[in-house]
Amino acid sequence: MRSLVWFRRDLRISDNPALHHAAQNSSEGTVALFVVTPQQWLQHDDAPAKVSFWLRNLQTLSESLASLNIPLVVKTCDSFDDVPSVVTKVAKNNQCDHLCFNREYEVNESRRDDAVMTACQESNIGVQRFHDRVIVPPREIETGSGDFYKVFTPYRKVWNEKTLERAEVFSAPKKQKKIDVKPSKIPTKVKGFDFSNAREDLWPAGEAEAAKRLEQFSDKIKHYDNARDVPSVNGTSLLSPYLAAGVISPRQCLAAARSNNAQRIGGEGGAAVWISELTWRDFYAHVMVGFPRVSMHQPFKLKTEKIDWRSSESDLNAWKNGETGYPIVDAGMRQLKQTGWMHNRLRMVTAMFLTKNLLIDWRLGEKHFMETLVDGDLAANNGGWQWSASTGTDAVPYFRIFNPFSQSKRFDKEGKFIKKMCPELEPIPANQLHDPKKLTDAMEQHGADYPAMIVDYKAGRERALAAFKSLD
Ligand SMILES: Cc1cc2nc3c(=O)[nH]c(=O)nc-3n(C[C@H](O)[C@H](O)[C@H](O)COP(=O)(O)OP(=O)(O)OC[C@H]3O[C@@H](n4cnc5c(N)ncnc54)[C@H](O)[C@@H]3O)c2cc1C
Repeated sequence: MRSLVWFRRDLRISDNPALHHAAQNSSEGTVALFVVTPQQWLQHDDAPAKVSFWLRNLQTLSESLASLNIPLVVKTCDSFDDVPSVVTKVAKNNQCDHLCFNREYEVNESRRDDAVMTACQESNIGVQRFHDRVIVPPREIETGSGDFYKVFTPYRKVWNEKTLERAEVFSAPKKQKKIDVKPSKIPTKVKGFDFSNAREDLWPAGEAEAAKRLEQFSDKIKHYDNARDVPSVNGTSLLSPYLAAGVISPRQCLAAARSNNAQRIGGEGGAAVWISELTWRDFYAHVMVGFPRVSMHQPFKLKTEKIDWRSSESDLNAWKNGETGYPIVDAGMRQLKQTGWMHNRLRMVTAMFLTKNLLIDWRLGEKHFMETLVDGDLAANNGGWQWSASTGTDAVPYFRIFNPFSQSKRFDKEGKFIKKMCPELEPIPANQLHDPKKLTDAMEQHGADYPAMIVDYKAGRERALAAFKSLD
C-alpha cells in the first residue's frame, strides 16, 4: 500500500494522526500533498500574514518530510471545488491507493472534504480521516439531551473529564521506503496576497520554534493567571499562530500544561487557567459545528440580528488605524497592524469598543481581524467577536460595556504598552492617560499630536444600551 497524506492546517510531523497512520501502514512509501487555493483563501478573508506563515511552515515541513523519505507535492487550484480532482489526480499519478487527512470543521472545509471522500471512493482510493484540530472532537461532547452545549462552564466540566486520558501524543513517523517522486518547490508567493508586511522576525516557522515557545512558556505558566491580562508583559504563550496552522497540536500543549499542573485537572493557578483557554478553543469549534450559522455571518442569538448598527466608514477606519483617540484601543489596533497579532485583553477591549461605543456591526470587525491576524481562526475569532458584541453563546451581557479608560488603568497603569504603541503620548504622565478629561487637558498642555476622541464615552454607551434594549 502507498498512502497519500493531505496536509492542510496540520503542518507538522509530530503528533499528526493522519501522517502517523499513513506511515504506519504504507509498505510502498508515502507521499504528502498540500493544495494552494488562492481564490478560496481570499474569499475566506485569510490574512497575507497568515498565508505567508503557512508557506514558510510548508517549507520547513517539506524538509522534515524529506528526511523521512516523504516527498511533499504542492498543487495550486483556485477554489475548494477543484480540490477533489486535484487530490485524486495526485494520488493516481503517484500510485497512491490510500488517502489520509485530518478533519477540518468549518462549513466549506467540511463540504470540500466530503466531496474528496466521494471522489476517492469513485476512483477506488481508500480514505481515512482523523480528528486532530481540537482536543475533544466537537460531536464527542453533548448535553444530557444529546444537544450541543451553548454555555462554557458545563461544557468545560465534561471536557475535563473526557481529557483525563487524552494527553497522549503520537511521535513522528519512521523513515519510509524511498520512492521515485520528486518533491515540489515550495511557492514563496500567492496571487492576490501581499506579503510585504508579514513579520517573519516575530513568527519564525517550524515545529522546532513552536516546541521552543511551549518550553519557554512552561517556565512561566505558573504566573499565567496574573500575567495574561497585562499587555506590556510577555505573559502568554504566543503560540496561537502555530496552533492555528497546526505547527503544534493542542494535545502537545495540553500534555505540557498537565505536566505542570500537579492537580491535573480543575486545579487553580496558571497551568489550570491556561488549560481552560485551550478548552475555550475547543468550545468555539464545538459551537461552530453545532450552530453552523455562526460561520455564515449570522449571530448565535438570532434576535440580535435586528440591531440597528451604525454605518460610519470614517469611524471604522479610525478604529482600524488606531486613531480613535482612546489610547488603549489605539494601542491594540496598532499592535494588530504592526505585528499581525493582538493581546487577548486588547482583542476584547477593541472588539467591544467597535460594537458598543461605536455601535458598528461585529461582522465588520470580525472580517478586519481575519484579514489581518496571523492566527486568524474562524471559530475562535467568531467566538471572540460574538462574545464581545453580546450576540454569541455565553456572551458578555450587553449592559456590561468595558470602559476603555478603566481597562487601561487596570491593565496598563503605567501606560507602558500605550506609550510603546502610541509614541505621541510619550509626554503625557501615566496618571492622565486613564481619564478622558485629564487626557484632553494633558494633550493640550503638552501639545501631543494624538487624535481627539471620535466618540463621547457616555453618549456612545447610552446609544449602545438603547440599541440592545430595543430588542427586549
Ligand atoms: C475578538 C477576539 C478575536 C479573537 N480571534 C482569535 C483568532 O482568530 N484566533 C485565535 O487563535 N484566537 C483568537 N482569539 C482568542 C485569543 O485572543 C488568542 O487566542 C490569544 O490572544 C492568542 O495568544 P496566545 O497564543 O499567547 O494565547 P495564550 O493565552 O497562551 O493561550 C493559549 C492558546 O489557547 C487558545 N486560546 C486562548 N484564548 C482563547 C479564546 N478566548 N478563544 C479561543 N481560543 C483561545 C489559543 O489557541 C492560544 O494560542 C480572539 C479573541 C477575541 C476576544
